Amino acid sequence: MSLIVQKFGGSSVANAERVRNVARIVTDCYREGNQVVVVVSAQGDTTDDLIEKAREINPKASKREMDMLMAAGEQISIALLAMAIETERCPVVSMLGWQAGFTTNSTYGAARIRTVDTARVRSALDNNMIVVVAGFQGLNRHDDITTLGRGGSDTSAVALAAALHADRCQIFTDVEGVYTADPRKIPNAIKLREITYDEMLELATLGAQVLNNRSVEMAKKYNVELEVLSSMKRAPGTVVREVTRMEKMLLRGVTKDADIARISVVGVPDTPGIAFKIFNALAGRQINVDVILQSIGRKGTKDITFTTAKADGEQAVELLSTKIPEIDPERIVIDTGVAKVSVVGAGMETHPGTAAKMFEALYERNINIQMIATSEIKISVIIDAADADKAVEAIHLKFFPES
Ligand code: ADP
Ligand code: ASP
Ligand code: MG
Repeated sequence: MSLIVQKFGGSSVANAERVRNVARIVTDCYREGNQVVVVVSAQGDTTDDLIEKAREINPKASKREMDMLMAAGEQISIALLAMAIETERCPVVSMLGWQAGFTTNSTYGAARIRTVDTARVRSALDNNMIVVVAGFQGLNRHDDITTLGRGGSDTSAVALAAALHADRCQIFTDVEGVYTADPRKIPNAIKLREITYDEMLELATLGAQVLNNRSVEMAKKYNVELEVLSSMKRAPGTVVREVTRMEKMLLRGVTKDADIARISVVGVPDTPGIAFKIFNALAGRQINVDVILQSIGRKGTKDITFTTAKADGEQAVELLSTKIPEIDPERIVIDTGVAKVSVVGAGMETHPGTAAKMFEALYERNINIQMIATSEIKISVIIDAADADKAVEAIHLKFFPES
């Protein structure tokens, strides 16, 4: 007998037919003699719809009330799925995040899981029940509902799998696994059989939505082997694990993230301490900075350019124009029409020429590169957002011509 955590995303439970389909997957697994814990997301676009409803009433609603609202989506899903499992004549109980023992910190809207007290889930499993848990939510120390940030149900599933020492954690979604690019945009993207945590973490962080990056971070930390697979079609998916027996492959994937802003601070004094002041001010407001570029000093001044999440852009500009006297507010330029396109793969460490090949693909399509950032296993470029899809396609074709 194995203990298996199965997670189903919003599209997998979008309507009655799909909920019934999930109930069949779950009960098949249960009838094979396994203990099954299921984590579900809100149905279809429910979370977006709830956010829209809030906007109609109060666009500046407090984060606490936003969490109270958003958590409702998952409550609907767990009840409906449990009802569908009842019709399959299997014993089942649904639980909200707090009932399943999730405690978090108090960062509403982006809470971090603190602990998972599995006592209640364990006791239900001991009574031979299937347990259906609401993803994306927990309880802070004030007994308030919190949510984990968009896509957070993946993290709920991994956290539960780690806390229960589950034998497997399966992430069911609307594609058959992790591909070399978004299979909805690049139809001949290749499904990966396996991928390492580090590579998956880069892909997820750089825009491959299929797994939330915090879930991958947590899976790596607690050594939870993840399998990403389709809820619509029974086919082998992608396994995320530490060491792989993978076929040699230079790259694992190409990603796009259009959710960024580029900010340039032009003509600041070319003296020590300016970069510190800028990035310290941003860090003080929890604004994450990604790619950074500093020009060579000329005539005593220099330019500093960096990227942030789009949602943080305006706040960053406001902060720099008011808090740092060396910066001329008139000379801060923000551009939200940019995107980051990246290639990821541990193989590039030992393959010189990966960057050249990527840049050649962009050159062939006449796409201009604004900024470049690299690490051992990734290369990212910042380009015009309007070119992003074309860039992904060109780069993918260059590296995976056989596809
Ligand atoms: P869920 O609702 O199941 O959590 P998501 O919409 O969050 O599903 O993630 C699945 C989507 O991720 C797919 O529909 C696909 O369009 C997108 N995606 C982006 N990049 C990739 C990739 N490299 N491999 C697989 N899917 C990807
Ligand atoms: N329902 C939440 C969202 O849409 C959580 C999730 O789907 O993982 O972001
Ligand atoms: Mg998701």
